[in-house]
Amino acid sequence: MKAAILCVGTELLFGQTVNTNATYISRQLQLLGFDVLYHHVVGDNPSRLERLIEICFEDCDLVITTGGLGPTEDDLTKEVIAKALGDELVYDEASLASMKKYFVETHRKMTENNLKQALFPSRGKVFKNAVGTAPGFVSEKDGKYIIALPGPPREMMTMFDNEVMPYLSERENAVLYYKIVRTYGIGESILETVLMPLIHGQTDPTIATYAKEGECSIRVTSKRETIDESKSAVEEMMVKIREIIGEHIYSEDDEEMAEVLVRELRERKLQLSSAESCTGGLFAGKITDVPGASNVYRRGYVTYSIESKVEDLGVDQAIIDKYSVVSSEVAKEMAIKALEKSGSDLAVSVTGIAGPSDEGDVPAGRIFMGMSWRDIDGRVKTTFKLMDSGRHDRRKNREYAVLAMIDMVRKNIQNCSKK
Ligand code: AMP
Ligand code: MG
Repeated sequence: MKAAILCVGTELLFGQTVNTNATYISRQLQLLGFDVLYHHVVGDNPSRLERLIEICFEDCDLVITTGGLGPTEDDLTKEVIAKALGDELVYDEASLASMKKYFVETHRKMTENNLKQALFPSRGKVFKNAVGTAPGFVSEKDGKYIIALPGPPREMMTMFDNEVMPYLSERENAVLYYKIVRTYGIGESILETVLMPLIHGQTDPTIATYAKEGECSIRVTSKRETIDESKSAVEEMMVKIREIIGEHIYSEDDEEMAEVLVRELRERKLQLSSAESCTGGLFAGKITDVPGASNVYRRGYVTYSIESKVEDLGVDQAIIDKYSVVSSEVAKEMAIKALEKSGSDLAVSVTGIAGPSDEGDVPAGRIFMGMSWRDIDGRVKTTFKLMDSGRHDRRKNREYAVLAMIDMVRKNIQNCSKK
């Protein structure tokens, strides 16, 4: 079935309220196998609302509205829907009774205009509001459905999950299943190019690529009659995707790279530390954002100045003098010192120019990442990576450097031994 979402409220047009209802309903409808064709927003204006309902019904079987179900003058959704369906509003006794009960229980005074909330189109089914006063409803005409939900997101979501989901799942006989695959180290245009043979001529599963901050994700979606059919169609497609870009995939479950790293460290019972210069602790922040990081993350050194690298971490001043502070040698030395000082099994480091300006002859975006670990014989090993982004965007340089650090650790993790 094809669906449209129509959100009512002048505050949405003013930009005072973010339209989170549309996002939520869209996601839920997709899971139910509906194709969402439109998101519309309209102010509290009956004639425009009526026109939009007509437009949506031109090519949709289902319209879901949110907002405008309240007791006040500007709440007009019900009246307009009744008119659009050639119906009239009548009192629903059950709603009237539960509304009265709600006001008694919450020690609030019920006013005349509250009664309006018990009015519904005569041909319809009322949806209970478990967390507020305005019930919703569904009404049908000539095989087309219109569902009206309250505006406050909590009420809308509760009603959607409890009332609308069961109602709609009886009426849609396709089930959607999707996977979000996260990749690193391959740009969106290359990703799309290499996947083109799979994307082209493919109606189910569909493949869509999205660029995110410093990485790309792929969404593989199938809509079949049963969940098992959808799942196996996605799995079959995953086999082909892995063949082409397997080395770039770090999660097939829409996880953050830091989450994946923390899990891998945990599984290997390895302890990690970090020494950061230009990222100023962002790496530590990203890792400790992950629940359970305390099992794997031991120490973080923020050594932003040259003195702190020498005095706090113990980097040899001579190395800095010889190679300069932004160099692979200093990055590796920072990692070694962090490894020794922290007593962890592996350590990662970063030194570079975040920007926005170049520093002397070192361009913004030149960032070295170092890593050190012990091999199976207990020998200290190092590696480094250079990110020469050419970017002057300080935020991106810092955040992308953190991703590159996580990726470097992840890729070398199989070489690391416990102390
Ligand atoms: P209403 O049912 O139109 O009286 O809406 C009540 C409140 O719900 C509004 O003041 C908004 O704060 C919130 N609201 C209405 N529509 C939306 C929406 N589409 N997304 C998020 N919040 C909304
Ligand atoms: Mg409103």
